[in-house]
Amino acid sequence: MKISELLKTKEVTISCELFPPKKGSELPKAHEIVKEMAELRPAFMSVTYGASGGISEHTVDLANEVQNVNGVPVLAHLTCASSGRDKIQEVLRELREHEIENILALRGDIPEDLEFPLPNQYHHASELIEEIKLFGDFCIGGACYPEGHPEAESIESDIDNLKRKVEAGCEFLTTQMFFDNNILYNFLYRTLKKGIEVPVIAGIMPVTNANQIKRITSLSGTVLPQRFRAVVERFADSPAALKQAGIAYATDQIIDLIANGINNVHIYTMNKPDVAGAILKNLSEIYKPRV
Ligand code: FAD
Repeated sequence: MKISELLKTKEVTISCELFPPKKGSELPKAHEIVKEMAELRPAFMSVTYGASGGISEHTVDLANEVQNVNGVPVLAHLTCASSGRDKIQEVLRELREHEIENILALRGDIPEDLEFPLPNQYHHASELIEEIKLFGDFCIGGACYPEGHPEAESIESDIDNLKRKVEAGCEFLTTQMFFDNNILYNFLYRTLKKGIEVPVIAGIMPVTNANQIKRITSLSGTVLPQRFRAVVERFADSPAALKQAGIAYATDQIIDLIANGINNVHIYTMNKPDVAGAILKNLSEIYKPRV
């Protein structure tokens, strides 16, 4: 099913992100995680492509497992910072062979040790989107940054570039994580003012361990509100308490979003079906799976 069609229904959707393993030997474990996550019946699942802009050998495999083995609509991520046009064409062919019709098209982070862009590369996600549209009938999404992309001169210029991405054929957007909903509401006001009208899926990261907090604080620009800091400080020494509090914080954020008319939420699950399951249990009267 095309995600653009799903988003048109105006129903509340909760979807989940997974990342593929680096090594083929870890695929059986990853398939187990897909199965457990699929049993939660999210509206769709996304599978990331590499990390920090690197390529990924197992995204298509895992996306196939989500959709064609477990029957959940899938969104396959695809980045172009480390790939030339030939590699992109190869992945698109593989996606088509597996009848995977949704792609989150991204530039990816530019790897520090590589020259970018080479002559056979796309400079921006918008160029990748144009190429995918020429290749075939995919439903294409893109990323957006409520606090501005770290490379952007300003939020305004980032939103101008976002508009280019939408004009290139991006049918929906998924946000970077944020911990203060007001940041998203402000961003949506600005994007609408610029004429960006495609659905925006709010990306929510349940913070359930200390390592995640380190990673988040290293992301330049991510605002950690006082309420969030207090939770982290209070429960830092108790992993079980921090996990419970992180699930409650994410649940609270999602309820506030839905109450304010944001019907589509994507959970950055960090491959933890128990965490996604606990959030979905908290929302069992708010999000009703379609099947
Ligand atoms: P772009 O849309 O190309 O934007 C990158 C920068 O260039 C921005 O500052 C933008 O303002 C600017 N820009 C864009 N277009 C133009 C233009 N025409 N002219 C001038 N400037 C322009 N990374 C991975 O490696 N794998 C993943 O699976 C992955 N999944 C992600 C999912 C989500 C929901 C999000 C939010 C991020 C994800 N990332 C992933 C990280 C992402 O790849 C990085 O944030 C990357 O630095 C930017 O990718 P982008 O697609 O947003 O780039």
